[in-house]
This record gives sequence, structure tokens and C-alpha cells, in this order.
Amino acid sequence: MRLDAELLSYLADTRQVTVRRDLPLSTLTTLRIGGAADLVLSPCDGGAMLRLLDLLSLSDHPFRVLGAGSNLLASDGGYAGAIVLTRRLDRISVSGSTLRVGAGVSLSRAANAAREAGLGGLEALYGIPGSIGGALAMNAGAFGCEISSLLSVATLYDPETRRVFVAAPDELGFAYRTSEILASRLVLISAILRLTPRDREEIACRMRKTLEMRERSQPLGYPSAGCVFKKCPDGRSAGELIEALGMKGKRRGDAMISERHANFIVNLGGASATDVLSLAEEARRAVYDAYGVLLEYELELLGDFL
Ligand SMILES: Cc1cc2nc3c(=O)[nH]c(=O)nc-3n(C[C@H](O)[C@H](O)[C@H](O)COP(=O)(O)OP(=O)(O)OC[C@H]3O[C@@H](n4cnc5c(N)ncnc54)[C@H](O)[C@@H]3O)c2cc1C
Repeated sequence: MRLDAELLSYLADTRQVTVRRDLPLSTLTTLRIGGAADLVLSPCDGGAMLRLLDLLSLSDHPFRVLGAGSNLLASDGGYAGAIVLTRRLDRISVSGSTLRVGAGVSLSRAANAAREAGLGGLEALYGIPGSIGGALAMNAGAFGCEISSLLSVATLYDPETRRVFVAAPDELGFAYRTSEILASRLVLISAILRLTPRDREEIACRMRKTLEMRERSQPLGYPSAGCVFKKCPDGRSAGELIEALGMKGKRRGDAMISERHANFIVNLGGASATDVLSLAEEARRAVYDAYGVLLEYELELLGDFL
């Protein structure tokens, strides 16, 4: 793919951005699946990220932003474009009862930093293997807490208008597992979370309980991308509907509907993206035939699936 001269010269400055070519997406996603991406770019901080996004937008080069890759099914054919990693946007600072976090900070690291500062609020999200950027984009949630409820201000970049702006939560269209960030492909650079002063021991105890509940209910020993489907519009759990149809343990190649949680598809070792998608489609069809409910994907697809 042809790169604009200005973009090429920026990429040559390895202090700002590390560049890898033809890197398998299986190394960047928690499902451990996916063919090669043409380019994988990792800017060193928020400033480098903004410059890079601006050059990519200006040159009309296709790109996708990737956090921890824990909500993605990447195509076996990979991605013809640039993957922009947020991992090095990893700064955390505390001020009063707020936590400022870079987009690439993991939810677990943010929760640990908050605990050390005696700030509660993130305990229920502890153990979700995503980044702040990915979590805010899809409004991640668990055990009755959605991350949008903790957001005070977000700093974002809009590739359409090439504008950097700050937004309050009510401007970002947060709803169950979605947001305007995701819908309009905005890029989160950093966020300020408003937390609650709380006893450190109590926070630690809540975090431990969250992890215990995750370990009991989720197949954490295998690569996965979390829940494949959103819950039904009437509130019924997709996993319970799939389980009631006796589909736990069903396989396509090395992709399997988890025995522990029927809304998880796990990779037993050599699963392809096609295996995962065709198994998910089989479950979706079976639920539709039995209950008349068309499940909506929570998992996102990256690359071409024909
Ligand atoms: C074992 C396991 C358990 C899980 N449990 C839960 C759970 O309890 N609750 C839950 O909600 N989810 C859960 N998930 C799913 C996943 O961890 C979350 O959705 C997480 O928030 C995704 O973040 P990420 O950084 O991995 O995003 P990625 O998978 O990297 O990206 C997901 C989407 O977000 C976009 N994105 C990433 N970073 C940014 C950014 N900086 N700005 C704009 N867009 C961005 C990407 O472009 C993509 O569209 C689980 C996953 C696993 C593997």
C-alpha cells in the first residue's frame, strides 16, 4: 500500500512511532486468531498518537485503532491497512478523587492505581482484559457497573474533521455496549474518571470478589474474546438461550462453545476466524429458530469476512 511522503517520513522517526510490517493479528488479540496486518504502528505517547492519526487521516490511509484486542475477531486474511496501537499511551495520574488515564492503560492497572489512592468505583470492572480506550468505546460493564458511569471528561480525535476535542459523557451517546466513539470511529486519547474515596481494604476485598466471580463463571484458561453476543433486547441472557439448546461443547475445528459459559467461544489451539464465525452463526441461527430472537454481536470483526 502506497504511503504519503509526509507519513513515511514521520514513520522513519522511530522515537515517535515503532513500525512493524506484516505482523500477525493473532499476536495482538486475546482470541489468538488473525492473519497479518500490513502495518502495525505504536506511537510513544498522546502527542505522537495525534500526529500519526492526523497524517493517516490526511493521506486517506485505512487504519483501525486497537487497544488490548480483547473484543475482536480478526480475519484469517489479516488487515490491509494500518493498525494503530494505544498500548504506549499508558500514563496514570491521580488528582483528588479523579484518575487521569491514557487510552492504553488496562482496566486492571487503572483499578490497582485507584485502590492505591483509596479511590473506589472500578472494582466491578477489575479483570476485564481491555484498555480504557476499548472499554469506553464499547461501554464495557460487569456486575452492574458500566465504565461510562465513571467518566468525567474524555479527550478524543475525530478522523473525519481532524479535530481534537474534549467531551462530557452526555455528548458521547453511551448505551448498552456501545457509544458514539464506536459508531463514529472517534479515537479516545485519554480520559478523566471520577471515583469515590473509599477504604483501601474494602476496595481490595471487592476486587478479589470480582476476580473470584470471573474465575467461577468464565473459561479463563483458554483464549477468547469474552461474550460473543449482547444480551437480548428483552434482557434475557444470550448464554442461557444457547445453553438451553444444548450447544455447550459444540465445535467447528478448534473453536468451541465453552462448557463453562455458552456465550464464550474459546480457541482450543488452532481455531481460524472462519471456524469461530461459522460456529457463532450456527448458535445465532439456532436461537433465532427456537426463540425468534436475532442475537446481536458484541464481538467486533476486524478485516474482511466474505
Ligand atoms: C476473558 C474476557 C472477559 C471479558 N469480560 C468482559 C466483561 O465482563 N464486560 C465487558 O464489557 N467486556 C468484557 N470482555 C470484552 C473486552 O475485554 C472489553 O470489551 C474491552 O473493553 C475491550 O477493550 P480492548 O482494549 O481490548 O478493545 P479492542 O478489542 O482492542 O477494540 C475493541 C473496539 O474498541 C475500539 N478501540 C480500542 N481502543 C480505542 C480507542 N482508544 N479509541 C477509540 N476506539 C478504540 C477498537 O477500534 C474496536 O472497535 C471480556 C473479554 C475477555 C477476553
